[in-house]
Amino acid sequence: MRYLSTRGLAPAEQFCDILLGGLAPDGGLYLPESYPVVSAAELTRWRGLSYSDLAFAVLSRFITDIPATDLAALIRKTYDAGVYCHARAGRNAADITPLTTLEPGLHLLELSNGPTLAFKDMAMQLLGNLFEYVLEKRGETINILGATSGDTGSAAEYAMRGKHNVRVFMLSPEGKMSAFQRAQMYSLQDANIFNIAVRGMFDDAQDIVKAVSNDAAFKAGYKIGAVNSINWARVAAQVVYYFKGYFAATTSNEQQVAFCVPSGNFGNICAGHIARMMGLPIARLVLATNENDVLDEFFRTGIYRPRRTSETHVTSSPSMDISKASNFERFIFDLVGRDPAVIRDLWRQVEAGGAFDLRGTPHWARIGGFGFVSGSSSHTDRLATIREVWQKYGTMIDTHTADGVKVALAHREAGIPMVVLETAQPVKFAETIQEALGRAPVRPADLEGIESLPQRVEIMDADAEAIKAFVARHCRD
Ligand SMILES: *Cc1c(COP(=O)(O)O)cnc(C)c1O
Repeated sequence: MRYLSTRGLAPAEQFCDILLGGLAPDGGLYLPESYPVVSAAELTRWRGLSYSDLAFAVLSRFITDIPATDLAALIRKTYDAGVYCHARAGRNAADITPLTTLEPGLHLLELSNGPTLAFKDMAMQLLGNLFEYVLEKRGETINILGATSGDTGSAAEYAMRGKHNVRVFMLSPEGKMSAFQRAQMYSLQDANIFNIAVRGMFDDAQDIVKAVSNDAAFKAGYKIGAVNSINWARVAAQVVYYFKGYFAATTSNEQQVAFCVPSGNFGNICAGHIARMMGLPIARLVLATNENDVLDEFFRTGIYRPRRTSETHVTSSPSMDISKASNFERFIFDLVGRDPAVIRDLWRQVEAGGAFDLRGTPHWARIGGFGFVSGSSSHTDRLATIREVWQKYGTMIDTHTADGVKVALAHREAGIPMVVLETAQPVKFAETIQEALGRAPVRPADLEGIESLPQRVEIMDADAEAIKAFVARHCRD
């Protein structure tokens, strides 16, 4: 399997060659040359597989430059080592992504049972093992530099802790994360993990990462890399649980399902789109946004209008607070019939600070064939949905999942099970749960009291030169 860039001006590459990088050299995103198609007989065989066997069946279609025995071992190490241990009471943690049925035809697919209690662990843990494997083979090292306001940074640190030839330098805004989030990240004592609390806001931290990445000499000299949501391996790993969720919600491959996905950067639902292109019987992909509704607007109108950072709403489902959706180009590439010239033209408009409008084009005429519908949710909707799901079903859901359930309920179709992806556990967003239910969310027993563990964090000014000096100093150790 080879990978090509959505912009069409970069050479095709193998999986391991694009694993450690981000954007393609022409500024595009990598996608498989063609999607592997799953036959009816294979789908029948896959129905009974364990999560890691299913992951191997799916991922071995995308990863053809790692020997099968090695790939199988990396996958087992990721999904069979007991790290996805935070399932709801009564669910089988060995399912990795257990299905909770709220009522007949309405389900939650639990994706947040990993170490940081958010769905990003599902793919990031595999990424950690893949990075270590490929770096070892090549005799290379990588220094991951990132900025986080919560979920991504902690998922990256828990995936990379203790990995050979990998260091993580994670910038976070000082005092802006919850005590629980700070404790999750800063209590890690692994020698290859460096937490830097920056005096400033998330955007200041993000600007430093950009400034360092724009310093080509520093970037090359210190092997600076990233693990953001455009990484192809993360998308590929996420394809697996759409198959798992489909099998859990159906009894035969004649049936169709709908998935509702709380969305921000379009990474999660992009994996659903790919599963559908592979032939998984998905009737509908329901995209849910919060007040940051740039994607809902596109699927309703055909206009993609990224917002300015200053227009981004700070919401109670913060992991979906985006101004533009970094994986969206992958879907549009398929929508426009994989014509890279069209993508270059559309993103020239986006990168100039503009928008694009597909209404009246042959591309937009094809949108119905892709199965997408969408909706958005507000803080009030979120509180009402958390309350409703708690009162009606006795199930506590987090704020992002609530956005999903709210939008899912507006798009149910007779005879088609609706599976809402549960992207985080309520304890991560305790304040809003308290506001909705007047009670605190329960916390997994092993995370009780983590706020009192010793913390390892460097507090620094929002100064790119000082951060570079810090990175340089710790790369020499
Ligand atoms: C990252 C995240 C999302 C958004 O996922 P995308 O892949 O960016 O669309 C939704 N919910 C939670 C809890 C997240 O951490």
